[in-house]
Amino acid sequence: MAQRADSIDLTKLAPSPGDGQRLDVDVLPGELRYGEETYGVDGDAVTARLDISRTIGGYALRLRFTAPVAGDCVRCLEPAEVAVEVDAREVDQARTSDEELQSPYVDGDELDLRSWARDALALAMPGQFLCRLDCAGLCAVCGASLNDADPADHEHGGGGDPRWDKLRELKLE
Ligand SMILES: [Zn+2]
Ligand SMILES: [Zn+2]
Repeated sequence: MAQRADSIDLTKLAPSPGDGQRLDVDVLPGELRYGEETYGVDGDAVTARLDISRTIGGYALRLRFTAPVAGDCVRCLEPAEVAVEVDAREVDQARTSDEELQSPYVDGDELDLRSWARDALALAMPGQFLCRLDCAGLCAVCGASLNDADPADHEHGGGGDPRWDKLRELKLE
């Protein structure tokens, strides 16, 4: 494992324009919350590759890591782990009024690596958190997981959801 870092002193690593550094650091992105769901990184820390380039007026930064994110599958509700790939870039120019060129994670020469890693991971999360892309989800009738289930066990009398049968009866009256 690489050295753990929550923040990085950029000027120490790249003191003058043209300087570049590549380093592997352990980051702790923490937990992500989406509505009711909480997702965490398995083992908490991930080793990230950080590229620092000192430019004339500031820094160009790149952060890459793969995080094993753990949470519940939104379809079958079973615990799942998804390898989320992060490749994020930031540019920070000290003397500019252009907000595009100001990184919210750089304050002076200090990089807030932990916040950047957390936000970059949140942005890289899949739109639907699934245990597998073809997760079959839950049976609409009995609520059991349909993954690896025998379809014959979920015929439930062949008429679909029995609640609809009740509705049909009501309409006939
Ligand atoms: Zn699933
Ligand atoms: Zn069923």
